[in-house]
Amino acid sequence: MNKPAQSVDAHSVMFITPRPELTMVEGKGSWLTDNQGKRYLDFLQGWAVNCLGHSNPGMIEALNAQAKKLINPSPAFYNEPMIRLSNLLTENSCFNKVFFANSGAEANEGAIKLARKWGQLNKSGAFEIITFDHSFHGRTLATMSASGKPGWDTMFAPQVPGFLKADLNDLDSVKKLVTDKTVAVMLEPVQGEGGVIPTTKEFMQSLRKFTQENNILLIVDEVQAGCGRTGTLFAYQHYGIEPDIMTLGKGIGGGVPLAALMATDAVACFVPGDQGGTYNGNPLMVAVGVSVIEQLLAPGFLESVRTKGELLSKELLAISAEFNLDGERGEGLLRALMLSSDIGAKLVELARDRTPEGLLINSPRPNLLRFMPALNVSDDEIRQMCNILRELLKQLS
Ligand SMILES: *Cc1c(COP(=O)(O)O)cnc(C)c1O
Repeated sequence: MNKPAQSVDAHSVMFITPRPELTMVEGKGSWLTDNQGKRYLDFLQGWAVNCLGHSNPGMIEALNAQAKKLINPSPAFYNEPMIRLSNLLTENSCFNKVFFANSGAEANEGAIKLARKWGQLNKSGAFEIITFDHSFHGRTLATMSASGKPGWDTMFAPQVPGFLKADLNDLDSVKKLVTDKTVAVMLEPVQGEGGVIPTTKEFMQSLRKFTQENNILLIVDEVQAGCGRTGTLFAYQHYGIEPDIMTLGKGIGGGVPLAALMATDAVACFVPGDQGGTYNGNPLMVAVGVSVIEQLLAPGFLESVRTKGELLSKELLAISAEFNLDGERGEGLLRALMLSSDIGAKLVELARDRTPEGLLINSPRPNLLRFMPALNVSDDEIRQMCNILRELLKQLS
């Protein structure tokens, strides 16, 4: 356990983000262990990815069984878990067709292409997509252009054209941008990277009505909010609406690279040559996806996510009251605590470096903390996390 001065020699790893001087070597449930044997309570879970926690037995079994059977027949053939997962997703949603991809950005690229194709066939080449300020849709050129992250419009200029930004929860701001070139509106049911900002029910419902009346597609990006995260299998189900296109990522693979583009029959207009990808529907990944979705659909599971979400919400509100903070918000187990000053980054660091056990949390904005634990996190772990937060907030006050 004696820590060398420089514990990590990572000079050949491309520098894209500052990383702490440690390597993670093991995970189990809500806990990660680093190379020094220190344990961390993980309320990041790979950025809302590991919905069943670390080393989920069902996922491991699915991965092992599929690896022994068939890893890659090529995307030119159907495979068993690809069909199984497609059926599971369509039987439990309003969508009829599924295309599997490797990342959320790739699924969103597919959604953008599908909407543009639909516009070519049905709306005289309409191609403009209205997205929202502070939204996040991925890091490819088109999805960066679709995103409403400040500064991203000039970062790798020129942008992919055709994305106009409205204000979330403001239908008039959408209406103002609509022209005969508008093909779709695309949004996150809960803006994740933007700071856990839920789309209101009233806005979502009026947006659906407006888009339907004006022959405009509605695309929901559920890469972060989907797959049980908000307490229903898909976040759109909270709103009593049916979108035309949905994208999934993160949670659907529970930690392996898997994403999905889903569409209704009326909109699924790709023909051979339009869409593909070397790993689309790769059996190893979709087999894990089957295990994940089956576990999310197990009796009582989603209900327990809602209960745990309520517990986390209640605890965060109590902390907010104790420390004079600005409250909390979110849906299910995607929540944020609003701090009253810009101490987010400091808290993240203190939490991680705390001994004997660290805590992993995230601060997407300087004045808030985001929590995205495993959906099977225990009540005790939620309370433990909150008590660590209390301890750290005391230190800073
Ligand atoms: C993370 C995220 C993406 C991008 O997913 P990647 O797998 O990182 O490409 C897209 N949309 C939303 C809402 C996300 O949270």
